[in-house]
Amino acid sequence: MSDDYRNVLEKAYTFALRFHETRAIRCPTATATLDQLWAALDAPTPEDGMAASEVIKLLAEGADAGLMGEAGPRFFGKVIGGSHPVGVAADWLTSVWGQNSGSYLGSPANAVVEQVATGWLLDLLSLPAECSIGFTTGATMASFVCLAAGRGEVLRRVGWNVDADGLFAAPEIRVCVGDDAHAAVFAALRYLGLGHDRVSRVPTDGAGRMQSVALSSMLASGQGPLIVIAQAGQINTGAFDAFKDIKDIVHRRGGWLHVDGAFGLWARACPSLVHLTAGVEEADSWATDGHKWLQAPYDCGYAIVRNAEAHRRAMSYEASYLPSAGEGCREPFHYVPELSRRARGFATWALIRTLGRSGIAAMVEQHCKLARRMAERLASEPGVEVLNQVELNQFVVQFGVGAPPEQRDALTRAVIQGIQAAGVCYVAEAGWRGRVVMRVSVISWATTAADIDHSVDSIIAAWRQVRAAAGRADKTRPDDSR
Ligand SMILES: *Cc1c(COP(=O)(O)O)cnc(C)c1O
Repeated sequence: MSDDYRNVLEKAYTFALRFHETRAIRCPTATATLDQLWAALDAPTPEDGMAASEVIKLLAEGADAGLMGEAGPRFFGKVIGGSHPVGVAADWLTSVWGQNSGSYLGSPANAVVEQVATGWLLDLLSLPAECSIGFTTGATMASFVCLAAGRGEVLRRVGWNVDADGLFAAPEIRVCVGDDAHAAVFAALRYLGLGHDRVSRVPTDGAGRMQSVALSSMLASGQGPLIVIAQAGQINTGAFDAFKDIKDIVHRRGGWLHVDGAFGLWARACPSLVHLTAGVEEADSWATDGHKWLQAPYDCGYAIVRNAEAHRRAMSYEASYLPSAGEGCREPFHYVPELSRRARGFATWALIRTLGRSGIAAMVEQHCKLARRMAERLASEPGVEVLNQVELNQFVVQFGVGAPPEQRDALTRAVIQGIQAAGVCYVAEAGWRGRVVMRVSVISWATTAADIDHSVDSIIAAWRQVRAAAGRADKTRPDDSR
């Protein structure tokens, strides 16, 4: 048996190293078709088992051409961290240890590591030391947890116990969200019975920032339970809401201010960027990710709540088989929806210990610098337009400046296809202000300046090709002026 254990782990280790060592030369887009993946991975339900190391070989080889280059250095298509080696190693141990990390008694080591990591995260992000943190799957669930705490607290203040009595017949909660909030926030509201359509959408400026003047007039009349959701790091532009103004407005009304800072909250870990987040520390809750800027492997997010009582009220419960471990022992399940789950604290602890405050700051700063370098080079190419000021690590691009809007959309789509086909880097399509855009996110620990330059060359080559083809099509098109 021990020999099998060694064999199967060694097999996985070999495939892991091979994948990692070729990640920079692999095509960042999956190359297999749907049919090919089915052919490689489907089979009749296995009647009998087979050797575990053989299974790992089948899995690794069958999945290979269907894997995306998200852990590689030239993947810019979504806001995605790079699965840092120390996180991978810590996660491997986490699986080997097989800790049931819901309760203190299920894994004292995890309970303490989560508590230590909580202190480190609050320190790095300069958030109040009294906050509690729930270790979630990602920022979507982190917002869900934070908003559950907020929902409970704003109703408690008007004498309603939502945990006991539910939402039927509860006083109405007014929910205000910036018009350019991430879709995940609306999903979280939906899970909480707050609906994604009954919210008030607050108008935003050109960069997607909530207009605090509009919020103020929206809240000028009326009172009662209120939740406002602001944003640190808009997905297309990286922009930050004006937290100082917003928190004054919300707190004057006795409301709960939640901030979606899935990636942008990490600007607080970087002295040269922290000014962008001024006032965010005054909020009541914050959602952020470990699997984005901190580079933790999936899945890893943090639900941070100032009022730890409200946090626990929203998530904790009791069961006879879950005896309290005693004074000073943190119960991880009091802060997240799950009981049995992966011990996420270990990878977080290992990453922060490896990078350190200075390493995290340098990484975040470097990514923003690389994003600016990339945007500047692209913007200097005729016909290419960068649509936002690059404040952080995110920007959006349209191709075909001067052409009519529908044509620009089509050209942009064609360029994205060309870039993906070239296989040097990965970028994806997004929508911004009614236009089709190429969204770029620089956020992987593996990305170097050389990767940026190589990628820009490929993007510009794809654009020139599309432009030349469009030019030829124009010349050969029959006269359209009938
Ligand atoms: C990624 C992201 C989310 C969703 O986070 P998950 O970790 O994918 O659940 C929410 N908001 C913003 C701004 C994001 O960038």
